[in-house]
Amino acid sequence: MLHSSGPDSSGRGREGRDFGGIVECPPVRVVRPGSADEVADAVRAAAAQGAEVVPRGLGHSTYGQSLTRGVSLDLRGLTGVDVGERQAVAGAGATWREVLAATLPLGLTPPVLTDHLDLTIGGTISAGGVGGESHLHGTQADNVGALDVVVDGEPVTCSPAVRPALFDAVRGGLGRHGVITAATLRLVPAPERVLCCTIPCLDAADVLRVQRETAAEYISAQAKPSEDGWRYEAKAVLYGDGGAPPAGTSETEELPYAAFCDRMRPDVEELIALGEWARPHPWGMVFLPMPRAAAVIEATLAAMTAGDLGRSGVILIKALRVGRVPMLAAPADPVLFGVLRTASPGCASVPEMLAANRALLDLTRAAGGTRYAVDSVPG
Ligand SMILES: Cc1cc2nc3c(=O)[nH]c(=O)nc-3n(C[C@H](O)[C@H](O)[C@H](O)COP(=O)(O)OP(=O)(O)OC[C@H]3O[C@@H](n4cnc5c(N)ncnc54)[C@H](O)[C@@H]3O)c2cc1C
Repeated sequence: MLHSSGPDSSGRGREGRDFGGIVECPPVRVVRPGSADEVADAVRAAAAQGAEVVPRGLGHSTYGQSLTRGVSLDLRGLTGVDVGERQAVAGAGATWREVLAATLPLGLTPPVLTDHLDLTIGGTISAGGVGGESHLHGTQADNVGALDVVVDGEPVTCSPAVRPALFDAVRGGLGRHGVITAATLRLVPAPERVLCCTIPCLDAADVLRVQRETAAEYISAQAKPSEDGWRYEAKAVLYGDGGAPPAGTSETEELPYAAFCDRMRPDVEELIALGEWARPHPWGMVFLPMPRAAAVIEATLAAMTAGDLGRSGVILIKALRVGRVPMLAAPADPVLFGVLRTASPGCASVPEMLAANRALLDLTRAAGGTRYAVDSVPG
């Protein structure tokens, strides 16, 4: 059944805002389809009225990418996950948490998961979807076998073999080339337990060296403000029972795989309780070419204080591999550098943080890199 509601006149409701909390944009109408045919009906009806249609998962993009003054297509009703031998077919509105809940009892998992599980399949495939496993498996968009998509008001299927140009346009396409209604996701055996290893690093170049040289299923790194400047710390996670902690490990923690996948939940609960989750999030996110990455990261952090990041901001550094997702336009041998800012009270203002994101993007482009398009950069 197709649900529709009237204008979001306040502009402050869920539909008019996103996680970034910077752009406010009330839609003229919200449509909540329950099937691919209802998505097609909604797209045709909006086209007949000359209205823009923008698909929306859970609105975790940070600068209005899922917002519109036209028709907001809320895809959360397209749920359901069918698990087969080595693949699952998931509704575009299902979350990675819902996919895992269906696959883990069968000993299977998607090879790449986002750090936060409450993001939708359609939303992350439309962004790209980077995870700690992306150095081995590419992005989430690289691990899709086929997509059901509504294009020009018609439901069609695409894959690397069938309508390959559409398949390439939709993955990483931010909803501009079609509405994903379902995705066939690759699955791999899930480990029962994992060993999380913390490796202190000297600087950004050392982080990238550790990430390149460490044989681990999951790698990531953060830079954290300290009294002596930025402190760098890599994470390497070994799946299953195999392997000793990598050289340089200072701390280890063994966890069930399910708990590891859901590791952000306590932090999210704390940030919600502190009010930080609801504050504006001007996130800068870029893909840097490996040979220039350390220099851009060091230069950016040298010009930054803790107040420029916000109380709950995070600096993320991840070397990865992008298989074949042309819309991402990532450089060869890319490194994701995320300056995930929160405009906390007493810290830099939203305009200051946006200007800093702009400067980071300029530096990135000069170095041959590009943006991750769910970021917050004006203009
Ligand atoms: C706490 C948090 C953690 C995050 N972690 C990661 C991470 O680990 N890795 C990563 O890569 N990103 C991450 N992101 C960034 C990114 O914003 C999301 O990957 C992306 O926006 C998905 O969120 P969503 O499902 O809410 O999609 P939305 O933000 O609602 O949509 C994202 C874009 O896709 C379009 N879209 C949505 N659904 C569809 C559809 N079915 N068909 C076509 N287009 C569609 C929208 O119009 C929009 O342009 C994170 C964001 C947050 C807030």
